[in-house]
Amino acid sequence: MTKKLILTLAILISGLNIYANISIPPFDSTSTQNRSKAKNIILLIGDGMGVAQIYSGLTVNHGKLNLEQFKIIGFSKTYSASSYVTDSGAGATAISTGTKTKNGSIAVDTAGKALKTILEIAEDNQMSTGLVSTSAITHATPASFIAHNTNRDKYEEIAADFLKTDIDVFIGGGKDNFDKRKDQVNLIDELKKKGYTVTDTITDFKDLKTNKLAGFTAKGHNPPISKGRGEMLSIATQKAIDILKQNKKGFFLMVEGSQIDWGGHDNDAEYIEQEMIDFDKAIGKALDFAREDGNTLVIVTADHETGGLSLIDGNYKTGNVEAKFSTKDHSGVMVPIFAFGPGAEKFGGIQENTDIFYKMLESLHISYEKMNGKN
Ligand code: MG
Ligand code: ZN
Repeated sequence: MTKKLILTLAILISGLNIYANISIPPFDSTSTQNRSKAKNIILLIGDGMGVAQIYSGLTVNHGKLNLEQFKIIGFSKTYSASSYVTDSGAGATAISTGTKTKNGSIAVDTAGKALKTILEIAEDNQMSTGLVSTSAITHATPASFIAHNTNRDKYEEIAADFLKTDIDVFIGGGKDNFDKRKDQVNLIDELKKKGYTVTDTITDFKDLKTNKLAGFTAKGHNPPISKGRGEMLSIATQKAIDILKQNKKGFFLMVEGSQIDWGGHDNDAEYIEQEMIDFDKAIGKALDFAREDGNTLVIVTADHETGGLSLIDGNYKTGNVEAKFSTKDHSGVMVPIFAFGPGAEKFGGIQENTDIFYKMLESLHISYEKMNGKN
């Protein structure tokens, strides 16, 4: 290259730089924020889902999971206000309210005071809301988004809290907590009075036209995959999205794969793998919608790990894993967070489980002050 050409190029490049400096406005945080505003949030919680649970599902599924489509991945510290090892009540409360509480509590602080949840804040902001779970809908994880109690086992009180909200769709087990109650009150009748379509089956979901759905898929907990739950979680997730997406102001939906945890408590690797693969199918439904919609933040995480699971051998071809457990209870390890869509980049790195709540609000452009004002 001649000296003259190098000089010409240098002038051209510096000229471009000057041009760039003049024409591009200074960094504007507002416009950057606007670009990453989420209209909808789908939060999927795999109860008891640590890295080994995910990897066992991936291996049994011959080396593939929808989870692999996420490019932003972080970890959360799951300890509660009362213990290094959290339970599902305190774990979900951290995510739903941004506050660490005592094990056994749901959406109340350590003094027992009710805390506003992300679902309630979404409602305050005219968004639609939904909960889907493979356990009873009154169980600790979904309950932490809609009910307030110092005792997660007060299922009938928790069911009554559903009536105090304007949740648009909930699908899961736990019907007995609504219509076979000690106080003889039939909450199913109350739900119907409030305009809910109440159904006991998911087979009629396809033709069901409704804006408010209470879908009871079991009297107590739903059965495990191995005992015939079928595609309940994916079908329910899709139905909830179809109902909620009608709101122009957006929606918040929490979907729980509840029984990954129960496989961990049972130290039953096959139970974990089947529930993990089932949960991953629901993740696929959320991702399909989010990709098409373009304004939806999808977050997949866990409340804690269960079983202290480790994989000491495996085979992608045969789909076998050799699993070892170190406890029948939860463990204290960090759990992964996967994020996709507007605001996803906030979820990378190591964070407190309570940060997930604040980052969800940030992604929706709901200010904390505004939330406090409505508290
Ligand atoms: Mg749970
Ligand atoms: Zn558990």
